[in-house]
This record gives sequence, structure tokens and C-alpha cells, in this order.
Amino acid sequence: MRVEIASEGVVNWVGFRIYNTGRSERHGCVWLSVEVRDSEFWRLEPVRTGEFQKQTTVSGRIRCPRWILPRAGGDYGGTVIYLRYIFRGSGGDFTETLEKAPAKLNLSLDTPFHHHDGSEEWDMVLTSVDLADYVAVKTLGRNGRIKVTTDSGFLPNDHRNLAYQAAHLLATTYGRKEAMNIHIEKHIPVAAGMGGGSSDAAAVLRALNRLWELNLDQATLCQLGLQIDADVPYCVCSQTAHVTGRGEIITQLPKLPPMWVVIAKPKISVSTPSILRRINYDEVRHADTQSLVAAIQRGDYDEICDSVENVLTPITSRLYPTVNHLKEQMVRFGADVAEMSGTGPTVFGICRKQSRAQHVANGLSGFCREVHVVRPVSLHTDFAQPSASV
Ligand code: ATP
Repeated sequence: MRVEIASEGVVNWVGFRIYNTGRSERHGCVWLSVEVRDSEFWRLEPVRTGEFQKQTTVSGRIRCPRWILPRAGGDYGGTVIYLRYIFRGSGGDFTETLEKAPAKLNLSLDTPFHHHDGSEEWDMVLTSVDLADYVAVKTLGRNGRIKVTTDSGFLPNDHRNLAYQAAHLLATTYGRKEAMNIHIEKHIPVAAGMGGGSSDAAAVLRALNRLWELNLDQATLCQLGLQIDADVPYCVCSQTAHVTGRGEIITQLPKLPPMWVVIAKPKISVSTPSILRRINYDEVRHADTQSLVAAIQRGDYDEICDSVENVLTPITSRLYPTVNHLKEQMVRFGADVAEMSGTGPTVFGICRKQSRAQHVANGLSGFCREVHVVRPVSLHTDFAQPSASV
């Protein structure tokens, strides 16, 4: 069974289409609730679709309180739409939701010291961009296993998948035993320094928090996320932030001033642990993260470009010189600044105008196959407020 947003352009209704695609004999009714978010949050009442038979398609529309530009999962300034549906019928009950999992970029990355347990202390500024995976999470209303599928041939489908780990962690922490299907539509390059796995894991945490009505606040989800990977706490919120600690201290920053980002992923994969092992704390030339934070707070585009820095770039580019080459080429084609994200090898360049960004991307396409022109995005989240201490 698949549910799709079927409206395009500016409308005051949400169109939907539900396909009973499975080979199953399932028939019954679907209750669909559509959640719409942008500057404010509203939720439409669940609708009950007509009788649902094997191999049928049901479509319809739900009126919205105001005009919107809809987009499933949301991006490019459109209104963010999440679908949740409950099926009741002969094939069993289930609920499903679709989460957008945006890629992250490190506008700055520094590690001031090493903790005794071997983990790094981080001092970084992260933002998210509208290059995203889409993660559908379906709970089946009966006890069973967690099943992960993806449309990418490169990813593990078992306990090694970070999305699986997130589901397993939440289920064991809150004593849930329901069978679950997670499907990841992969768009973020793998092992690229763009936090794809972490963002998928964070999407599963958000999805299950809603489907199971756990009402966990952001801090609790971040603490859980940290058990999976240092980038998961940031990805839970996916809004520009200053991130410190082991990755769990998130200080939200204002939205970035208008800018376009060119992303180039060379045809190599970098293992994060292999780069982190090579950090020599006596030699690291630390970044001025505070200047970047202040520039973002002032919305000063030029200052932001001046303060972008990643202290791991020399380590990765020593192993893969193509990283430095890409940085140089980006600036040569007109980017205001270029830097590596995470442990690499992805390099991003920042431009004020879309036309300039497109020019940079065209220039790079000759020697780098994977190039994207994107904009920063902020995910709209609606976590429960932390409970007041008594
Ligand atoms: P980070 O900078 O957080 O280490 P990355 O962007 O460099 O992440 P990912 O794309 O998250 O890299 O992949 C890192 C490793 O995690 C890969 O070896 C991959 O096989 C594994 N992995 C597990 N689950 C996922 C997932 N859902 N998506 C991507 N990679 C995953």
C-alpha cells in the first residue's frame, strides 16, 4: 500500500492517492490524516476513504484552512506535508508516516580535545540542505521484527543500518515489540560526510515518537540519538546550530541569510573512523567557531564565508588530494568559499546567487560526476515541551 500527495501548485486543499499495490488480499478502509506545517503547524482531521479492495486506488482531497504550496515531506519553500494513515481491514491494522531526512553540512568543524573514553569533543556549526532521503516508517500493529529496505544497493538492511538501530533503541527503551517496516529512499551520497545514515536514524526517532505518541521532547530524542552516532542529535532537529559536547549539546542559530550551495562528491568513499584515528591533537590548528556563530547571528553573508573552516580537511586531503583540488576549482569557478564537509570527501561551495552556483556546478561537472545545487533548509519540528521540574 502506498500513499501519495497528489496536489501541485498553490492550492487550498491537499490531494491524496492511495494505491493498494500489494499482492495481499487486503481489503478494508483507510483513515488518512494529513499534517501540514510551515510557519505554523496545523493538522487536518482524519478522513475515512471508501471501501478498499485489492489492487484499487482511492483518491480524494482534503480542504486546508488556507492556501499552500504542497510537497510530500516538504522542500524548496513548499509547505511540509506529512501523511499518516491507519488501515483497518482483513490484512491487519497498520499506521505509516513519511519523514524527510535532510543531509547536513559542516560550515565549521573543530575538535578541541579527546575524551578519556576515546570519543571526540566537537565544536562545530551544522546546517541542513534540501538534498534529502525520505524514510517511510510503518508499524504493523502486531508483534514482530524490524525490517529495513532501501532503494540503494550499497546499504546494509540489517542491524548495521543506522535506521534499524534507531528503531531498535526506541523499541527496547519503551518496551515496544511491534513489527515494523522501514523503507529508505536514498538520495544523500553514502559515506560522504553528509550524515546520511545519521539523518535516516533521526527520521526514524521522529517518526516513531509520533506514531507511538511517546511525546518525547527534543533533549530526550537527542540523548537517545547520541547512542547511535555523534551527528544524530543534530539531525533530530536539522536546523542550523552550534553543536558541542560529544554532539549532544545543540544551540540553535538563526536561519542563514539567502545563499546557494554547490555540493560535489568525488567518486571515493571515506571511512570516518580512519580519519578520526589520524587526528594529532598537538598539531590541530583550531577553527574560530565563535566568529562563525557571531556572523550567523548577525546574518552577515561575507563574514560567514570568511569563517567557514574544517580542521579535518588537511588530514583527508593528504589521503585524497582530489578534495583540495575540488576546493580550488570551486573558488576558481566563482564560489565565495569552498570547504569539505565532515570527514569528507564531499566539498561544498557557497554562492550568493543561484546563477553563480549553477555556473560553478557546470564548471565542475567535467571532472566530478555527482554535483548538486541546493539551498539550506530547516526542518519544522514539533517536539513536546520538556516537562517542568517539580
Ligand atoms: P558521518 O559523517 O556521520 O560519519 P557519512 O555521511 O560520512 O556520515 P553515511 O552516509 O552516514 O556517512 O555512512 C557511513 C556508514 O554508515 C557507511 O559505511 C554505511 O554503510 C553505514 N550506514 C548504515 N546505515 C546507513 C544509512 N541508513 N544510510 C547511509 N549509510 C548507512
